[in-house]
Amino acid sequence: MGLLALGTPLTWEETKPLAEHIRNHGITQFLNTWDRWKDNTGKGLLWGDEIEYMVASFHDNEKKAVLSLRQTEILTKLQSVTLDPALAKYKPEGCNAIPTFHPEYGRYMLESTPGFPFSGTPSSLVSVESDMRFRRQIIRSHLKDHELPITITAWPRLGVSNEFFTDPETKPDSEKSSSKSEYVGELLTNPHARFPTLTANIRQRRGSKVDIRVPLFIDKQTILPDGLKAPISNGISTPAKPLPGTPYIHMDAMAFGMGCCCLQITFQAWNVDEARRVYDALVPIAPIMLALTAASPAFRGQLADVDARWNVIAASVDDRTEEERGLKPLKSDQYRVPKSRYDSVSLYLSNDERNKPEYHDVEAPINQEVRKRLLEHGLDDKLASHVGHLFIRDPLVQFSETIDQDDEESMDHFENIQSTNWQTIRFKPPPVNSPIGWRVEFRSMEVQLTDFENAAFSIFIVLLTRAIISFDLNFYMPISKVDENMQRAQERSASTNQSFFFRKHVFPLDKPLARFDLQSRPVSPPLSSPTANNHTHTNNPSSSSHHIPNGSRSSSRHDNRNGRNASPSSSTCSTPTEPYDQDESPEMTIDQIINGDGDSFPGLMGVVNAYLNSLNVDIGTKCDLRRYLDLIKYRAKGQLVTPATWIRNFIITHPAYKQDSVVSDEINYDLVKAIDEIERGVKAATELLGKDYVGSGPTGCL
Ligand code: ADP
Ligand code: MG
Ligand code: MG
Ligand code: MG
Ligand code: MG
Ligand code: MG
Repeated sequence: MGLLALGTPLTWEETKPLAEHIRNHGITQFLNTWDRWKDNTGKGLLWGDEIEYMVASFHDNEKKAVLSLRQTEILTKLQSVTLDPALAKYKPEGCNAIPTFHPEYGRYMLESTPGFPFSGTPSSLVSVESDMRFRRQIIRSHLKDHELPITITAWPRLGVSNEFFTDPETKPDSEKSSSKSEYVGELLTNPHARFPTLTANIRQRRGSKVDIRVPLFIDKQTILPDGLKAPISNGISTPAKPLPGTPYIHMDAMAFGMGCCCLQITFQAWNVDEARRVYDALVPIAPIMLALTAASPAFRGQLADVDARWNVIAASVDDRTEEERGLKPLKSDQYRVPKSRYDSVSLYLSNDERNKPEYHDVEAPINQEVRKRLLEHGLDDKLASHVGHLFIRDPLVQFSETIDQDDEESMDHFENIQSTNWQTIRFKPPPVNSPIGWRVEFRSMEVQLTDFENAAFSIFIVLLTRAIISFDLNFYMPISKVDENMQRAQERSASTNQSFFFRKHVFPLDKPLARFDLQSRPVSPPLSSPTANNHTHTNNPSSSSHHIPNGSRSSSRHDNRNGRNASPSSSTCSTPTEPYDQDESPEMTIDQIINGDGDSFPGLMGVVNAYLNSLNVDIGTKCDLRRYLDLIKYRAKGQLVTPATWIRNFIITHPAYKQDSVVSDEINYDLVKAIDEIERGVKAATELLGKDYVGSGPTGCL
């Protein structure tokens, strides 16, 4: 919001002295919003997704697919789309607003959002997929004949050396480009001043180019660089970060990370307390959904030994100085900072009594002046610490025209810091002069190859947040374990081979699930305190045991590796303040976490089912929703594969693959073609989508 306003960007040398000014006014702006909104409620359960696309350009004669850099031109058209008769006939029922399209970091990227946020009623969820398809359809109809929108998380050949991978070609310029990359040229970045400035200022603040390393997948004929050895496998997988002395894929520019596509969901909460509780509950969900949506097995023309983008993007915008990274003693900088600006959440946010101090067991530096200011203004410690933690960062992009702002009318200085804290979950305060309320954004998921999958994951997360609120669920566990899960989630085949820490007892102790008869409740009632909670629940005295919904039980096909050594997440852990009960969040497989352990833990699908059962949903709607929920259920069971597994299999079984880890132009071309055909339903991929998948047909027109 407002971030793409035009202006004259300042260099890092010019921005640095303004950091304190920007933070001070940012906090004033936040407090003004706080005063206006602390007791206000948002109007209804609204939510919306963001889907990111890459525009592929096909050179059929050479069997080459590259990235089209026509973003500016395409967006100019997309942003003035009118529902002319040609498009209107594809407009899905219930879609009352023209979808909106937005720029993204890569000049080959587009982002779409619904024209108006969705409501959360089960019957409206059924039309999410058609809204997403409508957006894809609109994009398709504004591209050239040889171009297509593809929802792939990481372009396998982005940054390959000595060959072109964009249309038009862009050559690296390690002297003059904003990234100084030896692999990617300036044209790859969105030309709007914000993006090259962000790139250059991150590099300058850091004091060097960004340094991204992903473990290389070693195949029979893979050529190992001199002196490096293949890591020794433990039979499960290798870590998501390269071990010393083992081969890795090297990348050196922001584009490698911020040029990845993802799927994000934003929800409006009833009030600030509900937003804070949902935020906390989603923190441990983020790595689970990252593993389930994993879609990026290749980078810079080589197969990686990871399936997901997270560490790549974290390293691609890591602006920490050597002092902040702990490589040098602190002298000119203020804090030791354990994480990149793009990383998982380090602090829970809610005042819920179940948010215990011992869960905060990773080092999270806090801007104490900011925290003190918020406390003196009457905010509580949790919220003051959350904002104080965000505000350890410097602003990265400032335009000379907007240094002085009206703090009653603008949130730009606050957003400057907030919007460059790219964490797994984002707590979004209300914008100024807008009816939009407190929101929470879920940010860990990789974009899926089809809108069926994108709709399924969006719907699942929306229903899960509804269940969290309705049943007052408790997902708290130590942040160090969430961080450990984030690393495991990126490992090759993590969703079937790994185990993850997850809380076992998720229901409120004093409130057995069966007491929750939700039929007469409004859509989004206030749930600000346990008291507010109680009187919205209807007691059902006839039963006292947890109700496990139909179909949610599944026996685990996994061996029980609960005894496996749980490595402590990293050196960033500090000593917990109280001993932590290991049994509270044991290691479980993704199948158990989603589909239940067949015992007292109902699984995330179990609580979603219970939520649906508690509503007066007609059978038709339930059946429609089941199609989407089944994708998640069976993917969690390993009966359907992740996009990462599907892409990896496509590559290694391609006739041109030489067992050398290389994703050649020919393989890449066939892969991207296949993805488009799968999306349209003209090529089957039952292992990914099941046998009932229906796409939009040969022409891509619905
Ligand atoms: P970001 O700042 O994360 O890029 P965007 O504006 O691109 O945010 O997307 C935000 C999403 O939130 C969109 O899908 C939009 O439909 C949705 N949205 C808009 N208004 C609301 C609201 N009041 N409550 C919840 N979601 C909303
Ligand atoms: Mg945005
Ligand atoms: Mg967006
Ligand atoms: Mg964005
Ligand atoms: Mg985006
Ligand atoms: Mg977003």
